[in-house]
Amino acid sequence: MRFSPKARLDTSRVGDAGSGGARGGGPMRIPLPGGAKAGGGIGTLLVIVLIFVLNQCMGGGGTGLPTGGGQAQGGTDTGRMVDSERYANCKTGADAETDEDCARVGVENSLFNYWGDEAPKLGAEFVPAQMMTFSGAVSTGCGQATSQVGPFYCPPDQTIYLDTTFFQDVLEGQLDGQGGEFVEPYVIGHEYGHHIQNLLGIMGQVQTQKGPESDAVRLELQADCFAGVWTKAATGTTDKSGVEIFAEVNQQDITEALDSAKAVGDDRIQQRSGGGVDPDGWTHGSAEQRMKWFSAGYDSGDPNSCDTFSATTL
Ligand SMILES: [Zn+2]
Repeated sequence: MRFSPKARLDTSRVGDAGSGGARGGGPMRIPLPGGAKAGGGIGTLLVIVLIFVLNQCMGGGGTGLPTGGGQAQGGTDTGRMVDSERYANCKTGADAETDEDCARVGVENSLFNYWGDEAPKLGAEFVPAQMMTFSGAVSTGCGQATSQVGPFYCPPDQTIYLDTTFFQDVLEGQLDGQGGEFVEPYVIGHEYGHHIQNLLGIMGQVQTQKGPESDAVRLELQADCFAGVWTKAATGTTDKSGVEIFAEVNQQDITEALDSAKAVGDDRIQQRSGGGVDPDGWTHGSAEQRMKWFSAGYDSGDPNSCDTFSATTL
């Protein structure tokens, strides 16, 4: 992955909540069920990784899922405090080449450009996702979240939350020391996929929460597929002036995305946590399924190829 040095970065949708979750000083301190499991080890941690944490994400104790209507959530949250100081120096693709924070902005800009064109073709009115980094804990439209939750998308405030230490400390540690610079773009691409699902009203279709054929797994595999179609298109995405954001996305990047998808497969997570593989407990799909659907998206370059809800074989 290389950024085009002359691409202009737009930091307007990217902010940082700082550490400790003190942003805004609001009263919302709803503990997340998954957030209290710090002692559960890496297995527990990864189970809730890369996630759209449905139950936790609906305001703590809600019914878990939006039902019917096909309406996206959120979009009215205009009073948020976004500290963009962390990203203030991210001006160009050259900055993205030398700074991980700026690279994150570049990835967001590319996703914004891609889905801004593609989401309307799928029938959605495009509203960009916000992206918020934090460390420790953060107050969100879905309640209080801690680093243990891993990256997640919160539908009510249409924001992707990322504890950036996750990528170094957790995920890359699971990749047999491989890691790599495309791990985070894959994760952000996946979470942005959840945002598109939200805009399309697909989240309302999710009825069954667990199992290898469950709607929850279909939702996650579709997000992987959306990450794949964006990856394919990434080199064609541009900044506001039409300058391409990426100079190159290469085979090594694809390999890293696939390795990441593999590492967060439910069967791998179950194996790492010391138990046997139990498909009935799956919420995100197996390593094989996740790689397959990322590849399906990448190979086709077409979001319409990502209909995991109609697929007879996942
Ligand atoms: Zn997910």
